[in-house]
Amino acid sequence: MKNRQNLGDTSPEEFRSELHELADWIADFRQNLGSLPVAPNDKPGAILAALPAEPPDEGEPFEKILGDVDRLIVPGMVHWSHPMFLGYFGWTTTAPSILGEIITAPLNVNAMTWRTCPAATELETLVIDWIRQWMHLPEEFGGVVFDTASVGVMHALAVAREEAAPSIRKRGLVGAGAPVFRIYASEQAHSSAEKAAIALGLGEENVQRVTTDAHFCIDPNALREMIARDIGNNYKPLAVIATVGTTSTASVDPVADIAKICRENKMWLHIDGAYGAGFAILPENKSLTNGWSEADSIVVNPHKSLFVPLDFSVLYVRGLERLRRVFTLVPEYLRGDTVEAQKNYMDYGIQLGRRFRALKAWVIFRSFGREGMAARLREFVRLANVFAGWLKSDDRFQLAAPVNMGVVCFRFVGGDESKIDQLNSDIVEKINASGRAYLTQTKLRGRTVMRIGLGNVLTTEEHLRKAWEMIQETASELNRER
Ligand code: PLP
Repeated sequence: MKNRQNLGDTSPEEFRSELHELADWIADFRQNLGSLPVAPNDKPGAILAALPAEPPDEGEPFEKILGDVDRLIVPGMVHWSHPMFLGYFGWTTTAPSILGEIITAPLNVNAMTWRTCPAATELETLVIDWIRQWMHLPEEFGGVVFDTASVGVMHALAVAREEAAPSIRKRGLVGAGAPVFRIYASEQAHSSAEKAAIALGLGEENVQRVTTDAHFCIDPNALREMIARDIGNNYKPLAVIATVGTTSTASVDPVADIAKICRENKMWLHIDGAYGAGFAILPENKSLTNGWSEADSIVVNPHKSLFVPLDFSVLYVRGLERLRRVFTLVPEYLRGDTVEAQKNYMDYGIQLGRRFRALKAWVIFRSFGREGMAARLREFVRLANVFAGWLKSDDRFQLAAPVNMGVVCFRFVGGDESKIDQLNSDIVEKINASGRAYLTQTKLRGRTVMRIGLGNVLTTEEHLRKAWEMIQETASELNRER
């Protein structure tokens, strides 16, 4: 073991040599990723059991720690960046985005106020505005970077709530005599709507799920009827969450129609574009943005579809000052670092300490450029359609929803109908347990379906072909066994 100092940092020479070792480790990992199992097949607790339960008393050398990463951590990972990872939205990491993360680490600033790191604040403002331009949002939309879309929607609904009953911030729901608010989202919308209602004291039950049409999009008539019924029953309709790219099928709600309903009823319109909004950077998708300028808030997760590594989500509000009014609060010890007339991002949410997330976004956006990102997104869409074509050529399979963006939902239907849901689920489980590919399953209209998400820069048509053959073979095998 090397003789390590008990005070201060690693020596510059030692650090340099460890960094070189790490650089090789990262490059090797990235190069060999495709040959690793996509997912482990361990029992829960196996990794924990292999790690020392006692915290270390003595410092350990970096080689030993990195050795354990190789031996114990890497084999216990689901490799989301593996070319055969087709789960969720297939979100990916890229070489430039890894470099962006690495540059961020030594800077280690707290981007809470402008004063505590001007560059972090101003770069955040810049990348937020780049994304705004790509999404064709008017300049009146300002944004803030959060970790996730779930946190974004919670903040958006907090503003909606405050504007509907202005003294809630000060006096609380009961003190302000707030009515029972209702929030509407499609039956396909993400569960973060309920989580936000729970956190804001609005009540999980007051998130009302609206029926969808044959394409899994909100039916505006059903929405209108629900709102009218709720008004008749003394509820106060507060907000509608329209989704652009739903979690299961990437369906897109009719935002312009919903905006009209929100205007008529003086309701807040939040767009959940966590996955789908990023696709607005494709010029051929301009119509995707219809109605967006009428929204009060919109969330986009560049960590889902714009190549920024997890986590990086932007909440835009039409008139960002509306968000500031609800959350600004400056304790005395921060007053000196709160320069007037500058943006202090701590004012735009509940978080005080904030990572410098903008840097990794800036690095990837500059490395790929809009055209580079658009070309890659276009390839995901192409691959999704290629896969759908293969499905159509095998009559034991059916598309379970229209192909949207990089998402394909499908079902094996070539077996005993009474066992078919279980069979579809078992196909996914068996493939995932094999470590050769990774898919997800979901339910649509109560039926189990398989689902792939194309979103990985390393996935080629050849990888996809292999996954398709694996799905066909696994389906035949499991169907024979029943
Ligand atoms: N909205 C949609 C449509 C999603 O699919 C997801 C997650 O997949 C979320 C919101 C929640 O995202 P986050 O993990 O950023 O909170």
